[in-house]
Amino acid sequence: MREAKKRQAEQAEALKRELGARGAHLTRQRAAVFEFLSQVEHHPTAEEVYMAVKRKVPRISLATVYKNLETLVECGAASKLTYGDAAARYDIRTDHHYHMRCLDCGSVRDFDSGRGAELLRQIVPAEGFTVKDYRLELLGQCRKCGG
Ligand code: ZN
Ligand code: MN
Repeated sequence: MREAKKRQAEQAEALKRELGARGAHLTRQRAAVFEFLSQVEHHPTAEEVYMAVKRKVPRISLATVYKNLETLVECGAASKLTYGDAAARYDIRTDHHYHMRCLDCGSVRDFDSGRGAELLRQIVPAEGFTVKDYRLELLGQCRKCGG
């Protein structure tokens, strides 16, 4: 837990520097969005972030939350998970890790495994394709949905 706190503080500092380089600031609204994203584990959609942050910052709009989230992604302070037609989800982690996605409620949670890189080495892509990165996502049912 202390590690998580430390990581969050470091990430907030990095975000401030990155915003500064763009002539922007860590406004109260941006800070609230960042803080909420740092505290949850389910990788919320912009709408979920809006519903939560609105309790602290009542005047914030969904459009502002959306813009703030995109700014965090541009600054490397969060990553964006896209799922075709379904709403994008936001993840405070930007390091390599894996996801478990619930097919019923759509929630996405982390899982860490050292096996991913090892598995990748066993996969031989078709000729003429250079692998630059990979994603690993397990699909299933979360505990809340009966998994
Ligand atoms: Zn679920
Ligand atoms: Mn994640």
